[in-house]
Amino acid sequence: MPPSILVRFKKQLPLRRQSMVLFLKKFDTKFVRGISKLVNQASDETWASVDCLSCANCCKVMTPTFTKKDLKRISAHFNMSEEDFYTKWLKTDEDNGDLVNRIQPCQFLNLQTNKCTIYAIRPEDCAQFPHFNKKPFADYNHIHEQNIEYCPATFLFITQLQQKIEKEFVW
Ligand code: SF4
Ligand code: SF4
Repeated sequence: MPPSILVRFKKQLPLRRQSMVLFLKKFDTKFVRGISKLVNQASDETWASVDCLSCANCCKVMTPTFTKKDLKRISAHFNMSEEDFYTKWLKTDEDNGDLVNRIQPCQFLNLQTNKCTIYAIRPEDCAQFPHFNKKPFADYNHIHEQNIEYCPATFLFITQLQQKIEKEFVW
């Protein structure tokens, strides 16, 4: 059986990390004409080969940020008050005041199937993760830099994007 996406990712990351971080940091000072097209191509190529149900690492080792709307919607789904939901599952991040999970893996992850048990009403942050389509790309390079540590799809996405950009531009 071929090694899982997560196993391959964990082997490759130490070999590629430095190059990827340097590549991403250059977006702080360089403007790439036509970046959206390259981002879309890299994103499409990534999702053609990544199945999140064979991974779920984001739900296991990271936490989403819950907005007030998320808190209202999800607590109502469980017939809980927002206060009770917060007390049971959430805490406030001391660094930035964000509402985040108390525990990892996420309490809503089914560890047998890797499926989210509140998929239809999951936090907006989960729905948008791993944020490939956020614009302008250069404003989110630091997010991708964080996410290459945990997310095989981000690792592949940045690898594809790096190949495309280094082929077309002096980088
Ligand atoms: S978004 Fe990334 S970390 Fe989350 S399940 Fe998909 S590949 Fe894994
Ligand atoms: S709410 Fe669902 S998608 Fe979001 S971290 Fe938890 S299990 Fe994953």
